[in-house]
Amino acid sequence: MLREMLDVMMPRECLVCGQRLGVSENPLCIWCAEDLPLTYYWERVHNPMADELNALLERRRSCGERMDYAYAAALLFYHHANPYKRIPQALKYGRNLSAGRYFAAELGRYMASQPHFASVDLVIPVPLHFSRLWQRGYNQAQVIAAQLAGELEASLRTDVLVRLRKTRTQTRLDADARLKNVSGVFHVRKTVPCNHVLLVDDTFTTGATLAACYETVRDAFGPGPRISVATLSAVSSQ
Ligand SMILES: [Zn+2]
Repeated sequence: MLREMLDVMMPRECLVCGQRLGVSENPLCIWCAEDLPLTYYWERVHNPMADELNALLERRRSCGERMDYAYAAALLFYHHANPYKRIPQALKYGRNLSAGRYFAAELGRYMASQPHFASVDLVIPVPLHFSRLWQRGYNQAQVIAAQLAGELEASLRTDVLVRLRKTRTQTRLDADARLKNVSGVFHVRKTVPCNHVLLVDDTFTTGATLAACYETVRDAFGPGPRISVATLSAVSSQ
C-alpha cells in the first residue's frame, strides 16, 4: 500500500528502458529483467574475459615462470549501443548505489554456486585515488565488492590495496597504452593470510587495470593464494 502510494507520488522508472515501473518491479521492468544480457562467464572456467586477462598476464611474465589460469566472471555484457549499459553507468556516474548492490548480489549468488569461486575468502575492490574518492563520495568497485563478499561469505578488505597516483581516463586508450597508464599505480599496504583472493572492478574493458592489480597482489602475497577477478559488466565487441 505504501509502495503504491509512493509510486503515485514519485513514479519510478525502469533503469534500462525508462518505462514507469509497477509496484513489484525494481529496478527493472519485467521485460528488461527478462532480457538481461547475462554473460554466464561464472559457469565457465575458460571464457573470453578470463582468456583476455590471462593473455595480458602471460605477456608480462618472465619466461619459464609457472602461472595458474586466473578465473574471471562478469554479470552482464556491456556495449555502447546497448541500453543495458545504463546499469553500470547508474552506479558509476549516477550515484545509484542500490541498483549496483542489487546486480552485484545477483552476480555473487551465481558465483557462490560455482565450485571454482566458492573458495574465495578475501575480496579486494580496485581502489580509487583518494582525490577521486573524495570527489565522487564512494568507490563503485567497493559497492560491488561488498555484495560479492557477502554472497561468497568472504571478508571484504579495503585497506590492503591502494592506488598511489591518479591515472588519466582510459576510455580512449588501447590495451597497450592502458597497461602503461596503470603500471606502478597500485601498492599492497599489508598482506592478509588467505587462500583465494577476488579482485573486483565495475567494468572489464581490456583487463589492464585488473592485470596491474593482479600483479601487485601476486608480488606481495607470493605464489600461495589463487587470484580471480569479477566485474559487474564486460565489454563485448558485438
Ligand atoms: Zn525496462
